[in-house]
Amino acid sequence: MNLILFGPPGAGKGTQARILQDGRGLVQLSTGDMLRAAVAAGTELGKACKAIMDRGDLVSDDIVVGIIAERIEQPDCAKGVIFDGFPRTVPQAEALDRMLSERGWKIGAVIELKVDDEILVGRVETRNRETGGTRADDTPETLRNRLAVYHKNTAPLLTFYQGQGKLHSVDGMAPISQVSAEIAAVLDQVGGRP
Ligand code: ADP
Repeated sequence: MNLILFGPPGAGKGTQARILQDGRGLVQLSTGDMLRAAVAAGTELGKACKAIMDRGDLVSDDIVVGIIAERIEQPDCAKGVIFDGFPRTVPQAEALDRMLSERGWKIGAVIELKVDDEILVGRVETRNRETGGTRADDTPETLRNRLAVYHKNTAPLLTFYQGQGKLHSVDGMAPISQVSAEIAAVLDQVGGRP
């Protein structure tokens, strides 16, 4: 099954994606990780994205759609993909639906991790300390911008996926193991559907 983990920055998408990857053999695709790898490698793509990411703005739909289109062609993705941090705009979601349907695939479930913005600021501050500030966009100011971008550009996707009957919300403020258990319950229910 292919699924989308959905939620604002710091909601715990990456943590839950890794748990699902290990537990269910799905492949985690994080556009944030891919873009950071491009920046670290100093590729042309990375150079084009760095300043935008450091500000907490979105890189262009064409760039991220291109990265995902190339990545899902790899054989490991046939096991099922967890999209983490993608799609982030309605055009990205439409492009994803097209890409998947060309392969006869679809999104089985969209799981929203519901969290309070104020909690996120604290979580991201902790992450920034723990990683020694390696992410230039994990400062309080940039996080505020990332949250604003999330509410403006990304939150409308909730309506998009609700309209497709695929949206499931879980409490992202609960302890990690409880969030995983709630996600597992959703996937077992959706996966078992005829
Ligand atoms: P977080 O979820 O913690 O905000 P990510 O690692 O998902 O962070 O993304 C980091 C940055 O990478 C974003 O702020 C944005 O600049 C860029 N980015 C990642 N995914 C996308 C996407 N799907 N569309 C546009 N920009 C993206």
